[in-house]
Amino acid sequence: MADVLANWQCVQARIRQAAARVGRLPEDIHVVAVTKGVAIERVQPLVEVGIRAVGENRVQEAIAKYESAAWRDEIEWHFIGHLQRNKVRQCLSFADLVHSVDSLRLLAEIDRRAAALELDEIKVLLQVNVSGEKSKFGFAPEEVPRALEQACEHKRVLIQGLMTIAPYEEDPEDTRPYFRQLRMLGEELSSKGFPRFEMKYLSMGMTNDFEIAVEEGANLLRIGTAIFGERQL
Ligand SMILES: *Cc1c(COP(=O)(O)O)cnc(C)c1O
Repeated sequence: MADVLANWQCVQARIRQAAARVGRLPEDIHVVAVTKGVAIERVQPLVEVGIRAVGENRVQEAIAKYESAAWRDEIEWHFIGHLQRNKVRQCLSFADLVHSVDSLRLLAEIDRRAAALELDEIKVLLQVNVSGEKSKFGFAPEEVPRALEQACEHKRVLIQGLMTIAPYEEDPEDTRPYFRQLRMLGEELSSKGFPRFEMKYLSMGMTNDFEIAVEEGANLLRIGTAIFGERQL
């Protein structure tokens, strides 16, 4: 148990150092503790020290944890994985923020399900495939403005920012251009006044590259391995 807390402190220290390098305030930067594959008992000590959110990438696993965690209302539950449209209803039963909206059809389905469940405002981020890798989900950067226009029709969805997954790089420094591009896209879009969009969150940076993401403006980091150790699959 102690190792998780020590890792958490270490991650916080690294964030503070990265923030200081570029003159950012560490309190503006939030960590989503990625708990996929991690037993719920190992998460609890983090809740006790006040973490803000956990992130899960599979609906079934997330719901099982959500239902068994006595402390579930003390934190936010974020969904960060590819979401199939037939899982939207279940996802909306626990998720406070969906980081990974990667198509207009998914956006429309979230709106439709929200209406059926009488939920007024589902908070989401648009996932952007900045690197253009075929293996990755997400909107191409040039598709994002049109997605934000279309989102006007979906009154129950509020888009609170952008998310990306950088390619794995041996040298994390090589991820910088992807993070920079996402930040610049966000800046450009925030000035355009799309009605269902606010540029609140830039979700980028994982274990391998979060310091670079902080230097490039990330304010939601999704970190698993650096907190919980290598996942056993
Ligand atoms: C697993 C996962 C993470 C965390 O990855 P680590 O390298 O373990 O920090 C972040 N984002 C997404 C979308 C993930 O699936």
